[in-house]
Amino acid sequence: MLETTFSIVKPDATKRNLIGKIVSRFEEEGLCVRAMKMKQLSAQEAEGFYAEHRERPFFKDLVNFMTSGPVVLMALQGEGAVLRNREIMGATNPADAAEGTLRKLYAESIEANSVHGSDSAESAARELAYFFSGIELYNN
Ligand code: ATP
Ligand code: MG
Repeated sequence: MLETTFSIVKPDATKRNLIGKIVSRFEEEGLCVRAMKMKQLSAQEAEGFYAEHRERPFFKDLVNFMTSGPVVLMALQGEGAVLRNREIMGATNPADAAEGTLRKLYAESIEANSVHGSDSAESAARELAYFFSGIELYNN
């Protein structure tokens, strides 16, 4: 099924000049960029985005990390894009991530793990709407 998912190149990756490598990988894997913008998130924006983790012990650190530099926000479209994106990213903790996944290749730690990807179609819809207006999304 043709789907659109939401992806972020996180601050640890933008700082190390990895935007192009990460976007290229998605394109090579058959996902198409349908919206893209670079932005430094405010604390409020990061807290709202990760609201599901509000009660977790790492929440404050996560918000500090996500606001520590610019991020690249993207809509990625393709067959089964939600799951495909998660496969390309690999496990949350790079120590557990499969060979060749973006997190295995680039993540610095379980927190500074280079990329975000929506974990379900419902999350994708919420996250896309959180950062993009309808007119910013192509072919949707
Ligand atoms: P994301 O939602 O960013 O794609 P994920 O779905 O693989 O990652 P989640 O459980 O949703 O993982 O956690 C969200 C983010 O919070 C992680 O990507 C990571 O940056 C951070 N995080 C998760 N677990 C921890 C932890 N134990 N310690 C520190 N940071 C963590
Ligand atoms: Mg998640």
